[in-house]
Amino acid sequence: MRGIPVIAASMVIALAWAAPAPAGDAPQDTLLTNATLIDGTGAAPKPGMSVFIRDGRIHEIYASHEMRAHGDVHTIDLRGRFVIPGLVNAHVHLTPLLGGGRRGADGALRRKLYGGVTTVRDPSGDARLLAALQGEIRAGTVAGPDIVHAALMGGPDFIRGDARVARASEGVAVGSAPWQQEITAASDVQDAVRRAAGTGAGGIKFYIGVDAALIRAITTEAHASGLRSWAHATVFPDRPLAVVEAGVDVISHLCGLAWQSGELDPAQNVPYTHTPRDDPRPAFDPAKVKADSPEMRALFAAMAARGTLLDATLAVYARQNPAAAAPGCTPQLMSALARAARQAGVEFATGTDFIAPPGDTHPSVLHEIESLVDEQVLSPLEAITAATRNGARAAGLDRTHGTLERGKAANLVVLNSDPSRDIRALRDVMLVMKDGRPYSRPVDGR
Ligand SMILES: [Zn+2]
Repeated sequence: MRGIPVIAASMVIALAWAAPAPAGDAPQDTLLTNATLIDGTGAAPKPGMSVFIRDGRIHEIYASHEMRAHGDVHTIDLRGRFVIPGLVNAHVHLTPLLGGGRRGADGALRRKLYGGVTTVRDPSGDARLLAALQGEIRAGTVAGPDIVHAALMGGPDFIRGDARVARASEGVAVGSAPWQQEITAASDVQDAVRRAAGTGAGGIKFYIGVDAALIRAITTEAHASGLRSWAHATVFPDRPLAVVEAGVDVISHLCGLAWQSGELDPAQNVPYTHTPRDDPRPAFDPAKVKADSPEMRALFAAMAARGTLLDATLAVYARQNPAAAAPGCTPQLMSALARAARQAGVEFATGTDFIAPPGDTHPSVLHEIESLVDEQVLSPLEAITAATRNGARAAGLDRTHGTLERGKAANLVVLNSDPSRDIRALRDVMLVMKDGRPYSRPVDGR
């Protein structure tokens, strides 16, 4: 009897290796007809359109009355329905989920995908785990959005003082992991970027304690290597404008932009210089920040001119989780800053920095998209562009993802009502497609 469970267990393992369970239905050529397309470029909704999907890509888009022949192809009539590009959450942290075991992470990823999120950007974490997970997602054995992760760089005080860095570098000397690097003026920039790229990262993320001159040098090297450059709004000790002028592609957390205010001095508030702690966000007096001050105007003008994307994480401040926001980041000030940024022509991406709480079967990015509309920062159509085209740009995938265009990946969401009229239509998903593979089962919450 003793041997039987052993044999059974090894058989299960053998079967699992021989035939990994497909995480969704098989990809197949598909014709979507009579749909209203919202293509992610900001163009007005186009009714009566067909999308022909072949080999996981958008092969043709044309007016349905043209009745082009595609042979015996699987056809879905979407009369009365709306198609948008797959959503991008430009700011998630998956590593903490993975610490709780793969089951919880797989469930969270599945909920995101079935809720319409086809790509996420993870700006810091354990690249070993994230790259392995992305490998399974690409292979189709895990149902989830594609993960574009960062290799983080920070100053010595931050890297040595932050418990999250230590957790994400487990097994490696703190500061030396290629995905959580300590960086100083003495670092070999070319080597640092090469090591970051070796993790499979899509970008480099600057956190705290890297000055603007070093950010500029690393960003130049990163761009030459095909990596994006991502930064916290204030990396300290420099002001946000200096970081924008250093050439970064995306700035995270609207609240940090407040350090541009002439009445605040980030150099006097460098976190981690004295007491290493887990929460590096220094407080400021919100009364010292005016959204329309000359300093803030200059910052927003520079971001607009350079096309620096703002990953505002507005929902953290606006209503989702005020307790998670740093002191000083009042909802009123954040909404005013977001509106001022938009008026200056700054483009937004949609990141959340939090995972939807258990029981909330909708992906967390909907909170960010809805906050941007509710706080009158973006129109519903602009918010869709932020969450699709701009999200793909934030992740460095704009050539292949983010809009409904011929040749791009067939990542799309079919909605039962019009999100350009009511943004909450994003909660009413009929079908999600990623690389042409349909995901239409109800979310089971596991
Ligand atoms: Zn974050």
